Amino acid sequence: MRWKLTCRDAGDGSGDAILDLPDDLLQAAGWTEGDTLELEPDPDCSTIRLKKVVRCDVCDASTTEMGHGVLQAQWRDGEPERMQLCRSCFGYAMATLKRAHWVNHMFDDDPDSGQED
Ligand SMILES: [Zn+2]
Repeated sequence: MRWKLTCRDAGDGSGDAILDLPDDLLQAAGWTEGDTLELEPDPDCSTIRLKKVVRCDVCDASTTEMGHGVLQAQWRDGEPERMQLCRSCFGYAMATLKRAHWVNHMFDDDPDSGQED
């Protein structure tokens, strides 16, 4: 996806630039107000790449390079809950849940039903 956008001076003497992101770009990229974006200039400096920065809700690590996992609930009688996790924290959550499953099923008749894989 490519868009041609124009930076405008922030007008506060800082030398900062403001880049207005059009709605069709936000929609196509899945970005919303409040997201943190990272600029990555291409080597020839003719274009810049924008990437959404997601921080792990547990350890605050950036998940830009590796991606992130999502733990999400949509309760019928309450607020939705959501956590974005780095690979390490997501792995910990998954291992903890698999261990709980194993403990809950360790005395089941079927010896294979509760084993971790
Ligand atoms: Zn983490």
